[in-house]
Amino acid sequence: MATLATETFSMTIDGSAAETARTIDVRNPATGEVFAQAPDASADDLDRAVAAATAAFERWKTTPIDERKAALNNAAGIIEAHAKDLAALFVKEQGRPYPGAKAEILGGAMWMKATTMLDVPVEVTEDSDTRRVEVHHVPLGVVCGIVPWNFPVLLAVWKIAPALLAGNTLVLKPSPFTPLTTLRIGELIRDCFPAGVFNVISGGDALGPLMTAHKGFAKITFTGSTATGKRVMGSAAKDLKRITLELGGNDAAIVLPDVDVDAVAAQLFEGAFHNTAQVCVATKRMFIHADIYDQVRDRLHELAKATPVGDGAQQGNRYGPIQNEAQYRRVLDLIDDARATGLTLLEGGSVPQRGYFVPLTLVDNPPDDARVVVEEAFGPVLPLLKWTDLDDVVARANDSEYGLAGAVWSADVDKATQIAHRLDTGTVWINQNLQSTPFTPLAGAKQSGFGQENGLPGLLEFTRPKSIFIPKQPAGTIPEAEVAAP
Ligand code: NAD
Repeated sequence: MATLATETFSMTIDGSAAETARTIDVRNPATGEVFAQAPDASADDLDRAVAAATAAFERWKTTPIDERKAALNNAAGIIEAHAKDLAALFVKEQGRPYPGAKAEILGGAMWMKATTMLDVPVEVTEDSDTRRVEVHHVPLGVVCGIVPWNFPVLLAVWKIAPALLAGNTLVLKPSPFTPLTTLRIGELIRDCFPAGVFNVISGGDALGPLMTAHKGFAKITFTGSTATGKRVMGSAAKDLKRITLELGGNDAAIVLPDVDVDAVAAQLFEGAFHNTAQVCVATKRMFIHADIYDQVRDRLHELAKATPVGDGAQQGNRYGPIQNEAQYRRVLDLIDDARATGLTLLEGGSVPQRGYFVPLTLVDNPPDDARVVVEEAFGPVLPLLKWTDLDDVVARANDSEYGLAGAVWSADVDKATQIAHRLDTGTVWINQNLQSTPFTPLAGAKQSGFGQENGLPGLLEFTRPKSIFIPKQPAGTIPEAEVAAP
């Protein structure tokens, strides 16, 4: 068991607390200082978790779905009841100010409950005089869940709820940067499920590749960067594990000249800088029509200067630090590159000197091939880009290896909807940002993903189809098919 002066964090394996010989440091990004230790799972620990999940699968897959739903609802209720303490822990490891941290905990509980409103369907593809053909969706086995640090709880729930609801068992791994809230949730809800159904293990950089290579997993559900997603896919290919990959994005917002700038400026700003711009579906390139460009830019700059950024544990701060040092250095590098190549930067208000803080920064109309435009910043540096021709701006928005989401802003919703249909992304919002629901699939186009999460399609990713041909005639009297299955 790993310790912080007064707090300990254990992994969950086979329904019990699991100890490790080694630990990893966990830092508070608002100070840069180590404040806790998390267990560092070894290959043996992983083997034990997979063995427990494998043993539990046989019973869990035949457990009636209503019992599985009840277990998940019970777990959601426990998370909800502990939201205050979990949110305080979340702030320390993730950095987000407390109201947003609590919203994620409560959102995770809500999502878990809402997912139980879904059912695994049985499709009937033929029901004739001679036979009935049913397509069942059966669970896959042991699922490997790997989660990033930007929304550690919600994105874990997006894996826990559908995987277990569909009848699989799970070994979940949080990011080494944000393991604690997930480990604590594991401790709180481990008794809601039969031993081995739900396992949580934590560790350093070596653990993810060990998991994706492990032969005991039938499926990997991964959320993280596109670069890591490609490694996960390569590793899964060796034994054809099923995969769902939710990856990076470089989302465009297209702002039409008819918007009421004063009415939408705050929303445009939040769509880019929510969670200190560490959101996969945040606006990362904002295309603003030339007629209103200066007005929008100046409003956004005023907001950047007025928005308090600081330690999430202190009341009044709207945005926190960048979550970890590597990401902090990456964002600083992009800003340095923009400065070195002569781009105009518009800086927000001052930020604390200690910790991983960067002022909210706008880049004034850089060329489309600037690094800050082409790369996913995943931090508070937003390029503002001028446009005049609609076809041209749609082409520029689509000119990306990513295709996660996007937004169109206009007083004319029909026109905006037509533009939405032209964007090569998995999701488009009109006059809003960052929306998702438990019943709507999130699916990245191009290099933003493979497969989907949420909704019935997301649930079915944790199953495989199994077709059963049931005759209505006595055996021996059924004619062979004229076209046989190949
Ligand atoms: P990351 O890819 O560095 O890490 C994600 C997870 O993968 C972590 O748990 C990490 O420990 C693990 N990991 C690292 N290397 C691995 C390997 N070789 N094999 C297996 N696992 C490995 O991503 P991050 O920096 O934690 O998260 C930020 C990225 O995630 C951004 O690109 C963001 O856009 C993306 N993201 C996507 C979505 C989505 O739904 N599409 C949601 C949130 C974040």
